[in-house]
Amino acid sequence: MFPEFTLRYARLPERFYERFDPVPVEAPRLVAFNRSLAEELGFDLDAFDEHQAAEWFGGNAVPPGAEPLAQAYAGHQFGTFVPRLGDGRAVLLGELTDRHGRLRDIQLKGAGCTPFSRGADGRAPLGPVLREYLVSEAMHALGIPTTRALAAVTTGERVFRGLPEPGAVLTRVAASHLRVGTFQYFAVRGDVEAVRELADQAIERHYPELADVDEAGRYLALVEAVQARQAALVAKWMGVGFIHGVMNTDNAAISGETIDYGPCAFMEAYDPRTVFSSVDEGGRYAYANQPWIAQWNLARLAETLLPLIDADQERAVERATVLIQAYPEQYEAEWLAVMRAKLGLATEEAGDRELAEDLLEAMQAGRADFTLTFRRLCDAAESAEADAALVERFAPSEAIKAWLPRWRERLAREPGDPEAIAVRMRGVNPVYIPRNHKVEEALAAAAEHDDFGPFEALREVLASPFAEQPGREAYMRPAEPNERVLRTFC
Ligand code: AMP
Ligand code: MG
Ligand code: MG
Repeated sequence: MFPEFTLRYARLPERFYERFDPVPVEAPRLVAFNRSLAEELGFDLDAFDEHQAAEWFGGNAVPPGAEPLAQAYAGHQFGTFVPRLGDGRAVLLGELTDRHGRLRDIQLKGAGCTPFSRGADGRAPLGPVLREYLVSEAMHALGIPTTRALAAVTTGERVFRGLPEPGAVLTRVAASHLRVGTFQYFAVRGDVEAVRELADQAIERHYPELADVDEAGRYLALVEAVQARQAALVAKWMGVGFIHGVMNTDNAAISGETIDYGPCAFMEAYDPRTVFSSVDEGGRYAYANQPWIAQWNLARLAETLLPLIDADQERAVERATVLIQAYPEQYEAEWLAVMRAKLGLATEEAGDRELAEDLLEAMQAGRADFTLTFRRLCDAAESAEADAALVERFAPSEAIKAWLPRWRERLAREPGDPEAIAVRMRGVNPVYIPRNHKVEEALAAAAEHDDFGPFEALREVLASPFAEQPGREAYMRPAEPNERVLRTFC
């Protein structure tokens, strides 16, 4: 049976959404199901019925107690404001209470044309559904806040993205789908009361510690809290080489979770200018820009809350500006904490930032693989004999050869023996990330040959990213030149 829904979002006034039932599909087939997440959400797996699950997660049957709806939101897409976006192909069924007592949104993505579809087909191809499944679950295993994937269902229908592809529906689980764009939708309409309702729901669901803050301080405190989470989130992305690809304000979650896996990808050879998305021609969402785009998005959030921040609008702007201007320092501190951990540093010294930056510079000069460099560094922390395996990944290697003795000297001032430091480092520097060529291989096998073997294998590897898995070396190595994925599509 389906666990009991709470209808938190659906109880908001009508102007927050359009009621909309998923459009049934021809032949729903459950191709992936996340059992551990299902358990966390209160599903009884002993009573699990695959046929029933395919009906629910394909959108052919509305689970008991759900009141499906498409959420209204606006958004800045690549810097251009669109006052009405909304769920064009997603349907929120409602919220479930998980084992920790937290409300979690259950959303079907690819569920048909909604009143927000703007002429598009309301559907999702299997490839992107499986990419979101794999990458969001990989992010979770890496310890990065993210929406989750509960199920993937193929529809038995074709969708057209140039060529016909099998269609699919993803069941996405999120702390909520409140986004910067949700606030913008109401702010641009001058609907201050709606903005207040959203802010209060965001506080209730994601920042309960702010519930007792008085009105005069609460809404700026919300921006501050979102800012802290976004700074921490993006620092974590940077620490694994993740490139989101579409950091539009409608894809910036108030909860601080990573949301909307479109043309996202992980960097291999380190280059801060890296862009994968085929539509990001100007490189707005390049790897190195991500922290500053997050700040830009936070400024857009703050703008929507100005009428609630201070009755005196000039003072509201001033207070919000001071807050947003504090972001770079917060982000830099988060980033440094991530990098210290990656370098095996549990203590703090003044030269640590430079040490981290110089390693990245050496990696860029040497075209070194981001993930493998840090993993090899774990071995080097244990013994200088492992240096060779690290250095050989750099061409040219002068810079890394000069850097290693500096790092080792710094490491010598750390408490704990080398083995303990290496163990600590192996807990934050993954062996396995969703390498683009492995992801593409899994997607192609499923979409072109109905073979879900590679998808399953990859999913399993990525579930334990920090432990070396014997026999799975192929998932560890970077793409060969002929395997390289340079562009991603959503
Ligand atoms: P995204 O780029 O995924 O953040 O989506 C931006 C907007 O386009 C949202 O309003 C989506 O609901 C909408 N959208 C994306 N793909 C489709 C589709 N196939 N059909 C209808 N709406 C879509
Ligand atoms: Mg989106
Ligand atoms: Mg999307």
